Amino acid sequence: MAILNQVLGAIGERVRFGSAPKSGAIASISTMEGLIDRMRSGAVRTLLVVDANPAFTLPKALGFQDALAQVSNTASLSPHLDETAAGCSWILPSSHALESWGEVDFGGGPTGVAQPLMPPVFDTRQTEDILIQIAAAGGGEPSGGADFATWLKDAARRRRAEEGPEEDFEEGWRSLLASGGLIGTARETEQPTLDPAVAGYPFSQPAMPEGTALVMYPTVQFYDGRGANRSWMQELQDPVTRAMWNSWVELNPETAEELGVSNGDLVEVSSEAGSVTAPAFVYRGIRPDTVAIPLGQGHTADGRNARGRGVNPLDLLPGTADSVSGAQAFAGTSVTLRATGERGRLVILQGSDSDFGREIAELINVEEALDAERGHEVDLGELVRAAYDSDPNSPYRWGMTVDLNACTGCAACVTACYAENNVPTVGERVSAQRREMSWIKIDRYFVDTEDGGFQTVQQPMMCQHCGDAPCEPVCPVYATYHTAEGLNAQVYNRCVGTRYCANNCPYKVRRFNWFEYEFPYPLNLQLNPDVTVRVKGVMEKCTLCVQRVNRAKNQAKAEGRLVRDGEFQTACQQTCPAGAIKFGNLKDADSEVSRQSRSARGYHVLDELYTRPAVTYLADVTHAALPASDHGEQADPGDHADPEAGGEAEGR
Ligand code: SF4
Repeated sequence: MAILNQVLGAIGERVRFGSAPKSGAIASISTMEGLIDRMRSGAVRTLLVVDANPAFTLPKALGFQDALAQVSNTASLSPHLDETAAGCSWILPSSHALESWGEVDFGGGPTGVAQPLMPPVFDTRQTEDILIQIAAAGGGEPSGGADFATWLKDAARRRRAEEGPEEDFEEGWRSLLASGGLIGTARETEQPTLDPAVAGYPFSQPAMPEGTALVMYPTVQFYDGRGANRSWMQELQDPVTRAMWNSWVELNPETAEELGVSNGDLVEVSSEAGSVTAPAFVYRGIRPDTVAIPLGQGHTADGRNARGRGVNPLDLLPGTADSVSGAQAFAGTSVTLRATGERGRLVILQGSDSDFGREIAELINVEEALDAERGHEVDLGELVRAAYDSDPNSPYRWGMTVDLNACTGCAACVTACYAENNVPTVGERVSAQRREMSWIKIDRYFVDTEDGGFQTVQQPMMCQHCGDAPCEPVCPVYATYHTAEGLNAQVYNRCVGTRYCANNCPYKVRRFNWFEYEFPYPLNLQLNPDVTVRVKGVMEKCTLCVQRVNRAKNQAKAEGRLVRDGEFQTACQQTCPAGAIKFGNLKDADSEVSRQSRSARGYHVLDELYTRPAVTYLADVTHAALPASDHGEQADPGDHADPEAGGEAEGR
């Protein structure tokens, strides 16, 4: 992207850089090779590793772990007991960033002071305090105070004194902490140009490696592997494969046929550096001469959710640096493939990649979308019916829109819902039994295009809060019922667990508590006190964050008014980085959700059932030409309905 901007002459004009942030700088692979050589030769006597896990994130072929054993004095300062900590002679557990003081240079701009959001959960100290105390114990005299908080405050005092006449510093410091902190002012920085070596990078068609090329990529869940011990991240489905709790090898259908494997069959991938074995995921979005494996799994330490899960494709890299940039070459390693003849476990909750023409995930061509918008007439009768799927005397009918064209399938909304609504994670085995608890699922569909390719549509699916909800009349004890504001509510302590409602829900968004899920300390600290923790035997599902609705209504009532549009957001809406979700009052014709639900792209899923959902989807838009009926005869590129594909398999 930077090179494209350079070619267009945008750098320094429309694209302006600040100075590089001081935190988060990454050493190149060449630099690390130099360090490893010095560690091996005994030139390094003491090594402190701070908040990094090179034993996991460097290719095994570089031999960091062996070199670590050659250093006589090693210490890991990390909040996690990871692979690097496991190889160090000292482990000095440090506090999490949210438990620490810090200083942030945004790069030429204002400087922020990061304050602890909470006291340390465990018996830890922040990294800087550990270093100050080590220095003091060694007879040093750290300047600026006995701890980092004091050092930060003194630094702010000095800067304030340099900037102008002495003011009441204590008062300024208090307001700085209250506002998040502005110590310096924005500095105008010289606009950098691209390094000539990078600008002249030989991007001409690189030679493909012999055999099959390996691609490895960071995932939204784990990035480089640092998020792998979080069960929220393990249980988050991958945006493309929809798999969870494991690694996989993405194969083109042609390659899979040659190997004689299907989804879930174990494939051994070998290179000159090593080999890994993982379940196959057959995907036509990848070239036949390429395989892809996600990064982030394959930990040998780092907590029970991460340890022993999946494979680390870095084990396949020879660890050679790119000759121009000095960076690790992540693509282009040549590998060979072998079917092991065994089944693995690849948990994929989505039943099929196709909606089989049922107009569940809609995709329209951009020209058709514009035409539809121009000739769009709002069906007022339908709108009135939808808005009045609540008590006529109530001023509210809560509803939601989801713009499929904005949604990227990142699933941030899913995790936000877990956090807000005390939704438990259930683990790989229970997920494989399709007993997941997530209130939102992101379904990913492939839609064929006229050029023989396909487009991907991501669709967040949650309780649709139907005006005529099929779940309500079948509940023998009225545990699920319609509120005066059009919400489909669930009374937990009335539910007797017959699960009739889940069977009658056409959207399959109701979840049953098969077990009593626990939140042992310190996980209990994350529970939202506004939301009930459900017990074994009851049904649950999305409430449209009814606790937030009620808080806003109570506030409005206290002020003698109605809830204003945009006054509050549901957790998924608040978290969505793409702004794909809107929520509000459908009875307010001017509310954002009302305006969006009148869009020409708007539709209800399975509305032929006349369930009158409160959730309106806006169709995804593509520049590709679609067949006359994009929902006609779709080939299913990968049907996971076979329980073997998503269920338990032999051999593990
Ligand atoms: S709705 Fe937003 S948060 Fe949810 S998957 Fe789509 S883009 Fe991500």
